[in-house]
This record gives sequence, C-alpha cells and structure tokens, in this order.
Amino acid sequence: MFQDLLALFFPESCFACNKVLVRGEQFICTDCNIKLPYTDFHEHGATELNPLQRRFWGKVPVRFAFSYLYFRSKGRVQRLLHQLKYKGAKDLGEHLGQRYGSILQEYQYHDQFDLIVPVPLHKLKLRKRGYNQSEHFAVGLASAMSVPTKADVLKRTINTTTQTQKNRLSRWQNVEQVFEVTKPEQVKGKRILIVDDVLTTGATLEACAVTLLAAGASEVSIATIAAA
Ligand SMILES: [Zn+2]
Repeated sequence: MFQDLLALFFPESCFACNKVLVRGEQFICTDCNIKLPYTDFHEHGATELNPLQRRFWGKVPVRFAFSYLYFRSKGRVQRLLHQLKYKGAKDLGEHLGQRYGSILQEYQYHDQFDLIVPVPLHKLKLRKRGYNQSEHFAVGLASAMSVPTKADVLKRTINTTTQTQKNRLSRWQNVEQVFEVTKPEQVKGKRILIVDDVLTTGATLEACAVTLLAAGASEVSIATIAAA
C-alpha cells in the first residue's frame, strides 16, 4: 500500500528509455528488456566464434571474454551506462550484474573463476564520483555466481584523464603502467574475472590483465556490461 502510494507520487522510470515503470517492473521496462542488444558471447566460450575473445588474441592471454550487451551510442545502452556512471544508479549496476551473473551461472562459468576484480578508479576520481560503477556490477555478478569479489587488490596509480592529449604510442605505454596489484597474496594462483562497465578499445582491461598475470594470477577472464 505504502509502496503503491510512493510510486504514485514518485514514479520510477526506466533507466534505458525514461518511460514510467509499471508494477512488477524494476530498473528497466519490459519493452527495453526485450529490445536490449544482448550478446551471445557466453554461448561460444573461449572459441573463435566469440568475437570479443578474438580481440584479445595476440595481445594478452584471456581465458574468457564476455559482455552482457553490445554498446550502441545514442540508445538504450548508452543511457543505461550514463545513469550508472554519472547519475548515482549504483543499484542498477548490481541489478545488471545479477542478471548477467545468472546467465553465466546457467552456462556453468561460475566454476571457472576464483575471484572477481572490478577495474579500479583512480582515488581522485573515486572521491569525485563517490562510487566505482564497475564495483557494483562486480557485486551483482559475484552474488549471482557465488564467487568472491574484492575491489582492493588492484589499484589505479595514474589518473588517466590527461591521456587524451598524448599520441597513441605513449598512451599505450602509459596504460601499461596504470595499475598495480596491492595484495599479491590474494591474486596468486587465482583464476580472476576482471570486470568493467564498458569496453571500447580494450586497452584498460588488457592493462589490468597484464598486471594481474604478472602478479601471479593463474589466468584472467573479462566481463563487461557493454562492448563496442
Ligand atoms: Zn525502457
């Protein structure tokens, strides 16, 4: 009763299209749920049929590469990511993690990971934003797959916002040195799933993977909410 009254005066709207949600809908409306551009990467595992997997070939050994959605600019996915990243929609991150985590669980991938590690924000950016959106996605994935998650084993040592001015080569060298493992004893011998909100060039996830492998992780996989 109280919830209904609350909804009457403060209706919640869909994070993907802004339409008012009706009873039974949560975060995302039914129409968007049907129309979101879901990938089928998890159906192909580590094979060449997984296009995201292929993008890491010859760069860094990635066991599995998954993304829940395809990134599309100026559409539902961009709006979702924007709400998650800049509008404080932390619960949305967990919700998406739960949903994708249940799918990965269905395909038996939960047995493939010992630890889930979100891509960290630089401490200055974290202070400014107040939360790490990837951490919330990680929490959702972790709870759906019953795999532990730790946000403090990896640290971003360089604030990369100044990178845009530099040329491609120095940007790459820069990104290689951006991350540092703060607790090597917690990654040693572990099969780690690194998660981020969005994958564009893949350079950030690649740098995290290299750093974790160098610190003794036995293998790394990646999962994002959306991949371009
Ligand atoms: Zn919608």
